Amino acid sequence: MSNLSTMFQVSKVPKSSQMRTILDAVLPVEILPVFDDVFRRVDSGKILHKFRFLSGRYLFLMDTSEYFSSKKRSCPSCLQAKQQDGSVRFHHNILQVALAKPGFPQVLPITAEEICQEDGKNKQDCEINAAKRLIPRLVASHPHMDIVIVADGLYSHVPFVQLLRNHGLSFILVAKPDDHAALLEDLKGLREVGAVGGIERTDRKGRRHLYEYCNEVSLRSDAEMKTNWFSYRLINEDGKLGYENSWITDLRVTAQNVEELVEAGRSRWKIENENFNTLKNQGYHIEHNFGHGEKRLSFVMFLLNLLAFTIHQILELRDVLLQRLYKKIGSRKEMWVQIRTLVNLFVFDSWIFLLSFILDKRLRRSFHLTG
Ligand SMILES: [Zn+2]
Repeated sequence: MSNLSTMFQVSKVPKSSQMRTILDAVLPVEILPVFDDVFRRVDSGKILHKFRFLSGRYLFLMDTSEYFSSKKRSCPSCLQAKQQDGSVRFHHNILQVALAKPGFPQVLPITAEEICQEDGKNKQDCEINAAKRLIPRLVASHPHMDIVIVADGLYSHVPFVQLLRNHGLSFILVAKPDDHAALLEDLKGLREVGAVGGIERTDRKGRRHLYEYCNEVSLRSDAEMKTNWFSYRLINEDGKLGYENSWITDLRVTAQNVEELVEAGRSRWKIENENFNTLKNQGYHIEHNFGHGEKRLSFVMFLLNLLAFTIHQILELRDVLLQRLYKKIGSRKEMWVQIRTLVNLFVFDSWIFLLSFILDKRLRRSFHLTG
């Protein structure tokens, strides 16, 4: 009798060392389709529509994160960073995509791409290369979705924008003025002829929200590619600048949709806050070395952990008992501590019974333990 057999119908489990040996030989491509399968079930479970934004589109946030770092342990796919003292730091980075919506608490991981060591290339080359591998896979897995890729300024350049266009993907990409001299120059001219639109809102706190937008702006000095542009500035009550950013997009920007587009652009932080930070600090211990292996164990362990987080996010969206428990406890970390403690001590008949046991005081009292 064990919780694995009662709750998950798993009868035999190898020892952890044997588990690592087995998993080290598993190829990530054998695990990645599971994310697609989970997503298809979410789709048929009618919870996907909750994520719709910008007239029925879906925001796919894309960002990188580091999940392993060591000066001692390494594997053949470790990235290497030379330190100032001459030593080498080994690390693993991933490029991840998650579905999110402004103002909506859950994020749904879609897929991840490993940023591998490639001879003679720097980190930025690798991020872009990982994205080039990821994009076709993403489109093949979700051919019927109206996807908007939301990402940082690293991607707002002609070759990557062309790649997105070739795959029929929409985009909202940060475009910092310092990185886009040609675009800025073009905007200057367009502003002079009155082609740059703008709106201003003042909120109840007296803060000013300034929006500007312009369509058909040159992304590069050769004017080979035109794109649409919008910006946002927040001026606090004291007159000081609170926030500013600008983006490029293929979507036509109007006075009617510029505020929503800014919301979508700003939602990029959600993959950092609600995806990566949860994995790091809310009980998933993603930066812990679960085993490094000789081959791909590190990335396989990352994917399995990400899969667990994905399932938990779906449960938060769908499972009434878990929703009640999360509301009662108020923190994911504490919720998992309580669940883990109980399954370490007792055998439960089912997952439903376990959650009911934590939620229902009367049920717990009926199990008054005596010596
Ligand atoms: Zn490694």
